[in-house]
Parts: sequence; structure tokens; C-alpha cells
Amino acid sequence: MAAPKVYRNYINGEWVEAGCGQTFENVNPADKSDVIGLFPASDKVDADEAVAAAQGAYEKWRLTPAPKRGEILFRASQMLVERKEELAREMTREMGKILKETRGDVQEAIDMGFYMAGEGRRLFGQTTPSELVNKFALSVRMPLGVAGIITPWNFPMAIPSWKIFAALICGNTVVLKPATDTPLSSWNFVKILNEAGLPKGVLNLVTGSGGKVGTPLMKHSDVKVVSFTGSTEVGRMVSEACAPDFRHCHLEMGGKNIIIVMDDANLDLALDGALWGGFGTTGQRCTAASRVAVHKKVYKEFLRRFGDRAQKLKVGNGLDPTVEMGPCIHDQQRDTVHNYVEIGTNEGAQLLCGGQPLTEGEYAKGSFYPPTIFADCDPKMRIAQEEIFGPVVSVIPFETAEEAIEIANGVVYGLSSSIYTRDLNLAFRAMRDLYTGLVYINAPTIGAEIHLPFGGTKCTGNGHREAGQAGLDVFSEWKSIYVDFSGTLQRAQID
Ligand code: NAD
Repeated sequence: MAAPKVYRNYINGEWVEAGCGQTFENVNPADKSDVIGLFPASDKVDADEAVAAAQGAYEKWRLTPAPKRGEILFRASQMLVERKEELAREMTREMGKILKETRGDVQEAIDMGFYMAGEGRRLFGQTTPSELVNKFALSVRMPLGVAGIITPWNFPMAIPSWKIFAALICGNTVVLKPATDTPLSSWNFVKILNEAGLPKGVLNLVTGSGGKVGTPLMKHSDVKVVSFTGSTEVGRMVSEACAPDFRHCHLEMGGKNIIIVMDDANLDLALDGALWGGFGTTGQRCTAASRVAVHKKVYKEFLRRFGDRAQKLKVGNGLDPTVEMGPCIHDQQRDTVHNYVEIGTNEGAQLLCGGQPLTEGEYAKGSFYPPTIFADCDPKMRIAQEEIFGPVVSVIPFETAEEAIEIANGVVYGLSSSIYTRDLNLAFRAMRDLYTGLVYINAPTIGAEIHLPFGGTKCTGNGHREAGQAGLDVFSEWKSIYVDFSGTLQRAQID
């Protein structure tokens, strides 16, 4: 086997090694003998250099007309279109999810790129009448400065793109620290954006661990906004790091999402949704439907059919087009999943299918776990409360819609929820009462589109949203401007 390729950081327009010269391996979770590449194991020195480069490039980029910034984003998006298949294949190899899904991941980056490129000619503020004569009032967005972007491994291109395209179009410069499990997709993304014509220093990439690169980045006083997606535990640390000097931080964190299946639901549709929502991306989505609450009248039938179909899902290497579910990201994540399965069993939930790591034959090469379903869960059980981030679904019986909504809202997270029903009145009540950032009617908990706000309530987020217009708010500040052309002193609220 050829020696793995050695990759570098991208700082101030140059591809550079980590100052310490150390690297770490990027390994295929479907075949651990497949080392995809060696990436810089950077530390604070590299993070500081990247922030200095971004700071140095900021003034010129801030003053570059937004339509010109948009043209570069547009070119990058076209290049993503041209290379979509190759980028998706590389992503499946480093992250494990099936090709259909990695194509979708790249497509999200493409969609976001075109959307934000268009913002270059919009970035609308307001013009509004003044309460005084001969006075003009308007509001404009202004950039913040250097954006520090810290991302997880489950959407290795989509999530960086959501943040970076929005940051750049607003006129910020960026330092990206991707997850150590999936640095290649971020590397590809940064390479394309720079080939599309970004000036040096505007977008920098530093790979390495959370502690050695993420921490110095989030604590750096020149980083004016930190945008983080990952676990609630680390998100809290980001929030604390930014709080003392009031630097902005935007957090997208964990989820414990639910599909509610009412007794009048189209069961075929609800089953399709529960399978896709629960086991798509091997359950490793912040929006995964890890809970399914089913009305008692249809509970038995739903459970039987859900178990049958889950067991038939083909698990394997995501590059094989017949495979329907890939591996867990690594053995440690698989161990976490299995640990939760033991917790669920001890709590008294009924294991319907799965529940043991897949270790025989081809599976021995990777970190595989089968689709696993627990039936008869109490909503207060740990498996029905905590984020597992794997292919485990807890099924909870209920009797009334009110009870279902209470179950849905009865977790610390608030990202996504869904209800399957044909009752229009109930659908509207659910839209009003489900306290999550995303609500789906007759569709699973996953499938957000890039032009709507994305994010969650409670321990999922800190009140911000990414994507669409809301995403621009993270990376800009409003400035209200009053122009008095009366030639006299006019006092608002007094004259
Ligand atoms: P994680 O919190 O372990 O890591 C996320 C990023 O933070 C990585 O780049 C990591 O290196 C970095 N990091 C880790 N420790 C750090 C530290 N001490 N200081 C600074 N940075 C640090 O999360 P993960 O395992 O990569 O991703 C899974 C989690 O992400 C799940 O909880 C999932 O729900 C969440 N997620 C949320 C969304 C959302 O939009 N709400 C989307 C995807 C994933």
C-alpha cells in the first residue's frame, strides 16, 4: 500500500506544516487499515499564526465590495459542483456515511455557496422614516473581524460551509478548526475556496485536537466571533471562554429528537420516516430521530414493522452503492453506543433488534453497529433522554396528543421534532407547542434546507440560528445610522 499523503495547514495563503512538525492519522471508519492521510497536529503557535493572518487580511476584505466577495463564493460553488462526486467519495472514505448522504453533504455546501454569493448583492438593511423632519434613517450590517470556526465530524463539509460562506460574505476573515476525524473534507473545501480567488489570509485552516487548537482559538482576544457546532459539553466551554470579554459566540449542540406517530397517521409513511430519521447517517446526526413516540392504538403494528425493516437494512462500507447504513465514526463511539444499549437493557427497556457490535467477517475491519431498537421505553429512561449519537432508537408508547407533546418537550435538548397525523388541527397545535427549532409535519426530523434558520432551543443552542438570513446575524452587527439634513439641532422624543 502506498504511503499515506501528508497534508498541511493553510495559513496566510501558504500550505504549511504544524510548527511542532507532528501529524495525526485520518482513518477510514469502515476499514481501519485504510489511512487516508496524515494531517498537522497543530497547537497554539499555529492557531495564533492563523489568527494573525486573518487579522492582517481583515481590513482589505472588509472593504472589498460585497458583490465582489460574492463572485468568489459563486466561483467556489461552481467548482464544488464540478468536483461533487470526487468530494463525496473522499468524504465517505473518511467519515463512513453512504455515498448518497455524502453527495447530499457536498450539495448543502453548494446550495449555501450560491445562496450566500447572492447575498453579496443583497445584505439588505432597512431604510425607514425618521420621526423628525429632514432626517434620514437606515440600518446596515457590519462585519465583526476574525471568525473562529470549530466544527464536528458528522457533516464535514456542510457545517463548515454554512458558517464560512456566511462569515465571508459579511466581510469577516476566518480561521477554521475542523474535527480530527474528518479533516480532509475541510481541507478540500478550503482549497477550493482559495483556488476560487480568496485573497491570502482571508480563510485559514488549522487541523489538530480540540484542546490544542480549538481552545486557543476560542480564547483568542482577536477572534471576535466563535461559531461552534458539536457537543453541549464543549459548547459550554466555548460559551465560558467568550463570556469574560463579551466576544460573540454561536453554538449548535446536541439533540434528542422525536417522531410522534398518531393513530391516524399514514403508517407506511411514518415507518419510512422513522427508518430514515433513526438510522440515516448511522444515527450520527444532531437531528437524528432517536425517539419515536407511538400512539397505543397502532403501537404493536408499528413496532413489528419497524423492527422487521430495521433488521433488513444493509450495513457496510458506504462506498458500496447497495449499503444503506455505514459504520460509527470510530471504535470509541461504537463503545459509547453499546454502553447505552447496556444502560437501556438495565433500565428495563425491551431490546427489539440489534444490540451487539458487528465484528465478524468484513465488519471486523471497521467500527460497525447494527440498527438497534428499544421498545416499551419510559420517557424518563436515560436512553430516552440522553443523546446517544448512534443507530439506537427508543420507542415510547402514549395515549393522547397532549401526552406526546409533553414527552417531546421533556428533554434538555430542543433541536428537531416531527408528527405524523392526518388531523390538520392537531398538526397546527403541534407546530405551535413543540418547543424545538425545527418542526416537521409528516416528515422525519432530518432534512433541513439551507435558506431557513437552523438551530435549536434549550441545551441545543444559545439563541442564534445558522443558515438563511438568520445565519448572517451571527457574522454581522447591526449599525443604525441617522443623517440629519435639517441644519438645526433636532431632539428625538423631545421636539
Ligand atoms: P465535539 O464537541 O467533541 O467536537 C466538536 C469540535 O469541537 C471538534 O472540532 C473538536 O475537536 C472541538 N473540541 C473538542 N474539545 C474542545 C475543547 N476543549 N476546546 C475547543 N474545541 C474542542 O463534538 P463531535 O463529537 O465532533 O460531534 C458530535 C456532537 O455534535 C453531537 O453532540 C451532535 O449533536 C453535535 N452536532 C450538532 C449539530 C447542530 O447543528 N446542532 C450538528 C452536528 C453535530
